[in-house]
Order: sequence, then structure tokens, then C-alpha cells
Amino acid sequence: MSKKSILIIDDDKFFREILKDVLKERYLVIESTGSEDVIKLAIEIRPDLMILDIELSGKNGIEVCKDLKKIMQTRSIPVILLSSRARKEEIIRGLQAGADDYLTKPLYPPEILARVDAHLRTKSYYSNLEHRDMQMLLELSDAVSVLRNPMKILRIIVEKMADVIDVVRCSIVSISSSGDLIVKASSDMPNDGEIILKVERYPEISKVLETRRAVIINDMKHDPLMESVRSFVSELGFNSIIVVPIIKKESVIGTFLLRTATTLKGDDSERINKLCHLVANISANALENATLFESMKTAQEFLEEMAIRDGLTKLYTHRHFYDRLDEEFSRAIRHKEPLSLIFFDIDNFKQINDKFGHMYGDEVLRHIGRVVREVVRESDIPARYGGEEFAVLLPHTAIEGALEMARRLALMIRELRFESLKSRPITVSTGVSTFTNNNLLSYDEMVRLADQAMYQAKTSGKDRISVANDPSQHEEASGIK
Ligand code: GH3
Ligand code: MG
Ligand code: MG
Repeated sequence: MSKKSILIIDDDKFFREILKDVLKERYLVIESTGSEDVIKLAIEIRPDLMILDIELSGKNGIEVCKDLKKIMQTRSIPVILLSSRARKEEIIRGLQAGADDYLTKPLYPPEILARVDAHLRTKSYYSNLEHRDMQMLLELSDAVSVLRNPMKILRIIVEKMADVIDVVRCSIVSISSSGDLIVKASSDMPNDGEIILKVERYPEISKVLETRRAVIINDMKHDPLMESVRSFVSELGFNSIIVVPIIKKESVIGTFLLRTATTLKGDDSERINKLCHLVANISANALENATLFESMKTAQEFLEEMAIRDGLTKLYTHRHFYDRLDEEFSRAIRHKEPLSLIFFDIDNFKQINDKFGHMYGDEVLRHIGRVVREVVRESDIPARYGGEEFAVLLPHTAIEGALEMARRLALMIRELRFESLKSRPITVSTGVSTFTNNNLLSYDEMVRLADQAMYQAKTSGKDRISVANDPSQHEEASGIK
């Protein structure tokens, strides 16, 4: 079989290279900066899938996607959007414009492959579908793209599906984090109100969750899987069951569940199976968003939190760090409390990048972010200050406490193990400054002192902690190893 082709459109060479690196083994990769007519290119090349950057120079990726989805020759090409930051609003607009999925930068190779593979697998489902099924799917995609309320989207999905297939019941069941099965929409359920299902009564759903694959039971009365619930379900007037997992970011977030009165056979079962897979795919975003939408307050908080966190390390951004520093410095003055600041920079990080690649470097940063989040206390403010420089602000903390935290951070980072680095641990150089008894005039001074101390740790041999001179004491800085 010839390789499937992927057209990558991104004006940033760096990201095109990453994508190409990951995909070139399995796929034929064609790249473009997007400066030419993207639609024309797509018609010429007819790729099996497109990866399209939202922020192209000179044009808007979302508009391009809209056009691609309008034109006959290109509308069935799956489009995965690339968004440079986790910009939710933009992603939502992109999906509304008909994009099939999205990836956010920085890119994570296993995720790239998983998404691309999933879409290419699904694509073959579109071939050989009956006309009315295609029609239904297009109507569904239209509805999904104009409706904003995900609960409504789920409802329309089950209704349309029930229209084209003679079902007893068609439902979308979500799986909560505690493992509960919650019916989000069902063709025979009134508009509102959720039903919680008892997991024990649904061995077919349990199997899907376990295997992450669809389960098809053509004849429920004789299928061994249904043994434990036979007496309970025999009254319900259906004979066949199809359960398809709804997968998002590699995990099963719900299932698409369909029951028919007739016993399904051969062709019929195949057609319904295909449709369920396609519809499960369409449902994934809506189902994920539904949970978010339902608790608007939480969703709002979620979006706000995302805006102040760095995408790679999930630590606070440089900007948020300064907002908090300003607040905490004033508070420390007001309440006459100490406030400490830890700065650290990874030692010889350039070597890691040079030797193993920038992506590997990113992976190291991601892990360090996790360690920092795990080590700091609830009240501390950990931030990614720059590329591979980190800051932790410690309210109500004097120098002793700050030193203890700095040591713990260095230790935990040193204990991180990376396969490729073999036995060489990652070390950091740390500077610590403390505000106490009005020894500093401003938070700028606090930053400057921590930075100087860090510089001193670097120049005196790295892999150590240095404490800033207290300007009110006139002492020498002390390097602590
Ligand atoms: P030193 O021990 O003196 O700190 O040396 P170093 O090699 O760590 O050098 P320096 O701090 O001057 O340079 C940091 C390097 O980190 C340069 C830059 O390419 C890399 N870097 C900065 N941000 C990122 C990032 O987001 N990802 C990756 N992979 N590398 C980054
Ligand atoms: Mg640096
Ligand atoms: Mg460094």
C-alpha cells in the first residue's frame, strides 16, 4: 500500500521540521509556508490529511479551514489545526469552522502521531457510505459547527442517528473522573436531566472502557458477555448493541451506545458500526466541552488559569510572576513579614539541546516544571521566568525556609532520571534573596539581588546555591553547596 500523504502548512520552519521528523517515517510529508494559495495546493495535492497553522502570516488559518470545508474537492480532507498557545477561543472558532481536531504548540511527538493516526483511520470510514448516511453526517457537522451549546449538539447527534437507524435507544454516555456512567443525551430521554447508570449492569460498556475498542453484540440473547445481566435486559425489547468509545487525547471520555430491536447481521451491522465510529468522533469535542459548559464558573476559572500558566511547564508566566511579586511585596511591607525569592537556571542546558535536540530539551523543561509544582507549597508562586530560568516566590518565608526550599528543589531536579542522559544528573545554579525588616526598597531590587546571587553561583562553579548580600548588613555573599 502506498504511503498516505500529509500536507503541513505553517510559516514557521521550526514547527514544520518537528512535524516532519515525527511523521516522515510513516507518511509522505509535503510542506508549505502557506504563502501561496492553500486551497489550490490542497486541490492539486489531494492529501489524506492536512495540518494547518492558525496564525499564518498574511492570512487567517481559520478562514482557510472554512474555505477548505466548503469546497467539494477538499471538504472531506481531515484538517488538524495548530495553535501556538493554548488559545481556547481560537481553537473553538477553528472547530466551529469545521476543523477536525487541533494540536497546541509546543508540540508533543506522541500526541502528534496519535492524532494523525486516528484521523487517517477514521477517514476510510467515509468511503462506501450510503448517500443518506453521508447526508446525515454532513447535517450533523453543520449543526455542530453552528451550535454553541454542546448539550444541544449531543442531543442532535443522538436524534439524527436515531433517524437513520431504526433504534430502540441511542445515547451518549460520559465517564466521570470517578468512573460513573452519566447519560448526557439519549434519543428517548427528555431534554434535561441526567441519568446515572450502574456500571455493573453494563458489561458491554465496561468492556469498551477496558479495551478502548468498539463492542458489537449482534444477538444479545446468546452473547456470553451479557450473561450476568441477561435476566435484566431480556425484558427491554432489543437484540443488538453497539458501543463505540469516544476518545479524546488518548483517553476514553465516553461511549456512543446504540441498541436495535432487530438482530443485526452482516452488512447492516457493518454500516452501523461505521456510522457509530464517525459520530463518536464528531461527539468527542462536544462531549468534552459539555462538561466544561455545564459548570460555567469552573470553565471560567479554567480559562483564566490557562491564561496565566506557561504551556510547557504549567508554571506561572513571567508576567503573572511580576503581578504577584508586586502584590506580595506590598503585603510583606504592610504586614511586616518576610518574603523570599529563589531564582534558578539549569546548568549546561545548551549541551542538552545540542546533543539531543530542542524537543528533548523541552521534555526536560516539562519534567522540571512538574517537579517544581510538586515541591512548592500551596502559598508559593512558582514561575517560568525565562527559557530555562525559573523563579519561586515564597511569601511569609525568611532566608532559612527559602534555603531549605532551594535545596529541596535542586535535589529533586537532580534525582530526575532521563534515559538519554544516562547517569548524568541535571543540576541547577540558584540564587536566593530575602526581604525582611525593610532591607530592600523595591521588588526590583529583590529580583536584581536574586539574579546576582544566581550569577555568582554560576561563576563559582555551578550546581550550588548562593545567598544575596543583605544590603542592610554589608556582608559577603555566601556560596552554599
Ligand atoms: P549555563 O550553565 O551557564 O546556564 O549554560 P547553559 O548551557 O544553560 O546556557 P544558557 O543558560 O546561556 O542558555 C540557555 C539555553 O536554553 C539557550 C536556549 O537555546 C535554551 N532554551 C531556552 N528556552 C528553551 C526552550 O523553551 N526549550 C528548549 N529546548 N531550549 C530552550
Ligand atoms: Mg539561562
Ligand atoms: Mg542555563
